[in-house]
Amino acid sequence: MNKIDFNTTKLTQALVRCKSVTPADDGALQIIEDHLNSIGFNCTALSFSDPNSYDVKNLFASIGSSGKHLAFAGHTDVVPAGNEESWRFPPFSATIENDKLYGRGAEDMKSNIACFMSAANQFIKKYGKNFGGKISFIITGDEEGNAINGTPKIMEWTKEQNIKIDHCIVGEPTSDKAIGDKIKIGRRGSINFFLTVKGIQGHTANGHRAENPVHHLTKLLTNILSEPLDNGNEYFLATSIQVPTFDVGNSAHNVIPEYARATINIRFNDHHTAESLINWIKIKINEVFADLKNASCSLTEEISARSFINKKGELTDIMSKSIAEATGRNEKPQLATDGGTSDARFIKNYCETAELGIRNQTLHQIDEFVYLKDLEDLEKLYLKILENYFFKN
Ligand SMILES: [Zn+2]
Repeated sequence: MNKIDFNTTKLTQALVRCKSVTPADDGALQIIEDHLNSIGFNCTALSFSDPNSYDVKNLFASIGSSGKHLAFAGHTDVVPAGNEESWRFPPFSATIENDKLYGRGAEDMKSNIACFMSAANQFIKKYGKNFGGKISFIITGDEEGNAINGTPKIMEWTKEQNIKIDHCIVGEPTSDKAIGDKIKIGRRGSINFFLTVKGIQGHTANGHRAENPVHHLTKLLTNILSEPLDNGNEYFLATSIQVPTFDVGNSAHNVIPEYARATINIRFNDHHTAESLINWIKIKINEVFADLKNASCSLTEEISARSFINKKGELTDIMSKSIAEATGRNEKPQLATDGGTSDARFIKNYCETAELGIRNQTLHQIDEFVYLKDLEDLEKLYLKILENYFFKN
């Protein structure tokens, strides 16, 4: 075991040097466990299996007893490096050049874990183990993969253990131009509809003996696109409807085809649910097809993400206050719902959850890096949040 050192830069380097491409761990969780153990955290390694997925190692660690319970959630797994030859430095070397630390996972999200660990270390050194609350780490080895054996199972486990978490900070890279200028409090949902219209094939010269599915499908799509579903709100963009595919597969211009198909992708805000949109599209289909004898429309759907929002609450208030204090900036952080998915979608069912981390710049790219100065600023900010969370409310 290496010497226990809570220097954020060194800790980030140690984590980046573990080649933990999902679901490999390569020692990353052990580094976290050793560090947290050394300052009095109780660590539980949680390995989960499932017939539908690969096995995954996870870690739950906590310190403190009664009082408010704040958790930090993160993942040690990373996406593949891609073509290693294209990297400026080997992707798992964690090389520092000038003011930057390069490596796969540097931004997404090993640096964030290192910053929160260093902040927790300082907090415990300053206030002791009995500070009147509880701090936990929820660390998974599978956020970038299918997550079956990751955060959802850790959260189920906490429930079985009667561990009640009040608030959770997910350490994904959310900042934009400066540390703490953007917090994520939810995200849009996504649903795909697959439409197949069946008509009657025939000669284009004998239209009266055929039934053209293209005409009915275009009418349906026109109705669907005729007006916006909503205008968005304070936290969400307007729901967007896109028709990414329209296929007839007919190469003969004198044949009326039997089938026409289209896909609709809807990115929706919290004015809708997947279920309400399924109902809505069924009504639209019915309006066009109910009275047709020779054409019908079949529908299948795929819900790829549900929308959610954590309304502004105690946690985001403490975060905003801490950001102002730690950075000296006056403008409030942006509360956003854009971007891709994160494990916040699993944790928000258990407690108020918000995402706050390093600047979102190069994640998943070749030459992923973080600025060393950002590590310092984020550690300072996380410490300020811990102090405000436990002592000033
Ligand atoms: Zn991530």
